[in-house]
Amino acid sequence: MPHPPHPRALVMAPRKRIALIAHDNRKGDLLEWAVHNRDTLARHALSATGTTGALLARELGLPITRYRSGPLGGDQQIGAAIVEGALDFVVFFTDPLAPHPHDVDVKALLRIAVVYNVPIACNRATADFLLTSALMDVAYTRRVELPEPSELGLPPEFPHSRDAREPAWTASLQESAW
Ligand code: PGA
Repeated sequence: MPHPPHPRALVMAPRKRIALIAHDNRKGDLLEWAVHNRDTLARHALSATGTTGALLARELGLPITRYRSGPLGGDQQIGAAIVEGALDFVVFFTDPLAPHPHDVDVKALLRIAVVYNVPIACNRATADFLLTSALMDVAYTRRVELPEPSELGLPPEFPHSRDAREPAWTASLQESAW
């Protein structure tokens, strides 16, 4: 009988690390939303996929770390940043009415956000509710359930990636208080 995943706690600082992404048909909406919320966004650390980031940087005049364009791997980079504990929050205005060459990457990003219990807004109303949450400006402890190496069928001495390679996790993970 496998053990349940071991709960861990990841502390999100008051200054959240937010990734912003929009499919082409949703970019106008995201830009408008971001301009409307510029003062709030300015209190956080922003990153974005390539084209979205270029548009946002121009409109907002705020520093934005840019990943690759989504179809060229940007969504996967953002997923990897979540895994490494380097992102707290995602706003991804998706276009549900058009196929995209990188649909599988988008699906992977949505999945990994759920695995790591990252707040993710895929439409404007959700983004409004998230950004105006009282939790945005305080530290928040996020529960993350990760199996131990033995639960993955690995020997106990197997170097667990979150300890061996991921200083962001090692620094911010605590044993769960739950
Ligand atoms: P883009 O990528 O910001 O480079 O357009 C977003 C996406 O389509 O995933």
